[in-house]
Amino acid sequence: MACRRRRAARVLALAALVGLPAQAAPTVVVHAGWLVDPAAGTASANQSVLVEDGRIRSVGPHRQAPPGATVIDLSNRYVFPGLMDVHTHLCLSVKLQGGHGYAEALKAVLSATVLETTARRALMGAAHAREMLAAGFTTVRDVGNAGNYADTDLRKSIEEGWIAGPTILNAGRIIAPLGGQFHALQPERPELGEPEYLYADTPEEMRRAVRKNVLFGAKLIKIVVDDQPYLYSVEDVRTLVAEAARAGMKVAAHCATDAGARIAAEGGVASIEHAYDASTETLELMKRKGIFLVGTDYTQTAAHEMGMDDYHARVVARLKRARAVGVPIAFGTDVLFPMEGETRGSLAVAFVETYQEAGFPAPAILRMMTVDAARLLGLEKERGTLQPGAAADLVASDGNPLLDASALRRISFVMKDGRVFRP
Ligand SMILES: [Zn+2]
Repeated sequence: MACRRRRAARVLALAALVGLPAQAAPTVVVHAGWLVDPAAGTASANQSVLVEDGRIRSVGPHRQAPPGATVIDLSNRYVFPGLMDVHTHLCLSVKLQGGHGYAEALKAVLSATVLETTARRALMGAAHAREMLAAGFTTVRDVGNAGNYADTDLRKSIEEGWIAGPTILNAGRIIAPLGGQFHALQPERPELGEPEYLYADTPEEMRRAVRKNVLFGAKLIKIVVDDQPYLYSVEDVRTLVAEAARAGMKVAAHCATDAGARIAAEGGVASIEHAYDASTETLELMKRKGIFLVGTDYTQTAAHEMGMDDYHARVVARLKRARAVGVPIAFGTDVLFPMEGETRGSLAVAFVETYQEAGFPAPAILRMMTVDAARLLGLEKERGTLQPGAAADLVASDGNPLLDASALRRISFVMKDGRVFRP
């Protein structure tokens, strides 16, 4: 209870500090000490960014602001596109009740989903969305676990300017074989796995499940391939991918095992989530097919909080192999636990550390959090870049993120769609 009170106080303090987003985005000139281009891996000194109607109009050497424009002086900082986390669960928070291991973590998820209303999940999502934005995440892909479509209402509330948060691509309900990811269900109450999961076992149910998600506001489809002894088959995955594609949507596949990851890759999904134990052969297949690895690469701290301590070393080893293979990677965290003194955003951005441990150079880490993530999301023309015409999602740090990725953990300015969220 004390923890909840402190957390609420923190959220209120943050709200007072930054205020709610203004209704109209003003014309702004941002003077950047260095403007970082993640795609090129370069930084240009003394640049100005002209922002109008929430978009970048022009970028060039320092210049006078047009009359009436607001000037933001970041001439002592590095400015770059807002960050992306492509594996969030903003409407879920779980704390282990003792024990450890993957099964215990899933029991904690089951307990949260049974005991908490969708309204509470949406409010929780609003708090987490604000915390993500404050840490520099201007776009997230939210991959389900949001009760009965709390994620759709969260996305719409942010789009309509009621509350502050990142641009959200949400998955709606996670489509999975009977039982979803829950192993602790009992035969008298199998329905307790819903609405958290949307059970689909036959091709007809799969098509209907995709359609249901599209109807209720999903922007991508998330499936679980291998969390029960009965896996989706390659044919099942193809059915789901084809139905999603008909609605213009991509599929993200939860695959904890190598067998699952191989099925998802052969079935043609856009991204494979976790793939903790993916073999080098599977990673090579993913590379050939242009399938993204979203490794949700737990820091040691995150692994410990989820009762999965051994997963940190596992993901670092898998990341090293993924790096050697050259599989496309988008930054995704899977943070779903609270921690005293941290926010959802600070916990997520700390995952930079795992990629550093696996030997990724700083420019590669910045790319997986911006341009590459945007490519997975299909937003590459719109976000993850500071090219004229793109949405004005800008962040700044006192350090150069091309030399030391730790600078990404010290973001001190956030603008989203041309509105300053964190001055
Ligand atoms: Zn997840």
